[in-house]
Amino acid sequence: CKLDYQAPADLLDGRIILVTGAGDGIGRAAALTYARHGATVILLGRTIAKLEKVYDEIEQQGGPQPAIFPLNFEGATLKDYHDMAETLDKEFGRLDGLLHNAGLLGRITPFDQYNPELWEQVMQVNFNGPVWMTQALLPLLKASTDASVIFTSSSVGRKGRAYWGAYAASKFATEGFMEVLADELDNLTSIRVNSLNPGATRTQMRKNAFPAEDPDNLRTPDEIMPTYLWLMGPESRGHSGERFDAQPPRK
Ligand code: NDP
Repeated sequence: CKLDYQAPADLLDGRIILVTGAGDGIGRAAALTYARHGATVILLGRTIAKLEKVYDEIEQQGGPQPAIFPLNFEGATLKDYHDMAETLDKEFGRLDGLLHNAGLLGRITPFDQYNPELWEQVMQVNFNGPVWMTQALLPLLKASTDASVIFTSSSVGRKGRAYWGAYAASKFATEGFMEVLADELDNLTSIRVNSLNPGATRTQMRKNAFPAEDPDNLRTPDEIMPTYLWLMGPESRGHSGERFDAQPPRK
């Protein structure tokens, strides 16, 4: 946890960074924060109007011109990921950062009532989609001299909890895949691969999961950005296959 980390303003100068789920919540904050620290950000998500708003905000901040990449993990195919890699290759030639942030909560419900279609959807958006997107983007990450891949986890991806069903399973799968990929790439490339648990954060997803909770007691996406910056920037070089938290765990 690097809540107190103070990133230099030029931390990400010249870096090309893709953020999934960049239109809302934590992904939106990460896209704006990375751009403010000099990165050219590729905004990926399913709701174009939201991505366009973030695009405009980055332009207003005076950051490097971002790019928008509409993609819905629910319907995306291998071809979509490879077309995407081809487009990014033509446009940028490499990728220095990949923040897997897009996520779907599904339902908090006893397992015997879990709808199998919803289960598949959650696994698709939170796990399988990001896996195949990562495979397609590997050549671009290898073309970078210092690439950071961050998978977003959750406390229920580290310790199971009743009723969290597919969401928890998808986050456990994410942690496992993170370790496999980090181990495979270790020493072979300059790509580091880690997972990051944002912790309870004031977003729509958190509200859906805990409707009775007072959001004022939660940190905002902006407040947890120091760890997102540290892990994306060069100071986290040498760390790979590790699990990080963006804020101290709640009691
Ligand atoms: P939000 O629901 O606020 O944002 C999720 C983002 O993911 C949205 O931009 C959403 O797009 C996008 N997304 C959802 N489904 C798809 C899809 N099928 N294809 C493409 N994009 C999609 O959630 P948070 O910001 O809270 O969560 C971000 C990450 O952090 C998630 O991985 C979540 O699991 C994790 N997390 C969050 C915690 C919290 O307390 N907030 C705690 C622990 C983990 P759209 O805007 O179009 O809906």
